[in-house]
Amino acid sequence: MAEQTRIALTGIAGRMGRTLAEAIAGRDDLILTAAVERRDSSVIGTDAGELTGIGRNGVVVVADLAEVVADCDVVIDFTTPSATLAHLACCREAGRALVIGTTGLDASGRDALAAAAASIAVVYAPNYSVGVNLSLRLLEMAARVLGDSVDIEIIEAHHRHKVDAPSGTALRMGEVVAAALGRNLEDVAVYGREGQTGPRDRQTIGFETIRAGDIVGDHTVLFAADGERLEITHRASSRMTFAAGAVRAATWATGQRPGLYDMSDVLGL
Ligand code: NAD
Repeated sequence: MAEQTRIALTGIAGRMGRTLAEAIAGRDDLILTAAVERRDSSVIGTDAGELTGIGRNGVVVVADLAEVVADCDVVIDFTTPSATLAHLACCREAGRALVIGTTGLDASGRDALAAAAASIAVVYAPNYSVGVNLSLRLLEMAARVLGDSVDIEIIEAHHRHKVDAPSGTALRMGEVVAAALGRNLEDVAVYGREGQTGPRDRQTIGFETIRAGDIVGDHTVLFAADGERLEITHRASSRMTFAAGAVRAATWATGQRPGLYDMSDVLGL
């Protein structure tokens, strides 16, 4: 059998960590060789395979990526912004590629990604589903054709545990649409409305956030003109769609030249 790509998972006990372990177990060309969790987590010292339901594999969950980074070719990180930045520094030090799914990174965090990408391959995407990344291309086309003749609103819905809003995907969709229209999202974004808001300014891009139940991730971009409206919607029904994309990105990133990449690079869109 050809050599397997060795993967470290940080946040192994999380919703995405467990799904990623399952996605890796389903591929012959990949192997989970390291697993990391929060220092105060009850799963430290346990068997990662047993924890994630893929079957005992002898990989012990540790609290510090630095202890195990040498055992992997690439790290996949779906944790929190502060943990992601610590893992980024560790990968840079060890010369390992890093695939980041964590959302909610601020501007200084994104600067840190760009700086690290001078020495390692970093893939950073707010959404690893193929459908969402294809929809970014469709949105670009819709924005260019419809231009200033429509009002644009981005509506997203996620499960009740999500901690950041709007979603990283909604913001990315906003950036793509704004760029296609020659607008700067920071200048035109409106996050929710309440009270005496006055009439809508057509240059703005509105964001509406829903947090409820176990919704995996829904995004709609609404282009509304007088007399017609176009809605581009993506609905994720399983976290496996993100996990499969992230695993694909990890394979792609291994051996890739240093740089900051996104899912459109991985998919060759
Ligand atoms: P979660 O809370 O279920 O899991 C996060 C895990 O990270 C937890 O188990 C937590 O203990 C662990 N963690 C926190 N700090 C850590 C540290 N210092 N070291 C190691 N582990 C640590 O959350 P989730 O639903 O799995 O989502 C995680 C992140 O991924 C969020 O930012 C979410 O928005 C994002 N996400 C991105 C995509 C995508 O396609 N890019 C898809 C789904 C979720």
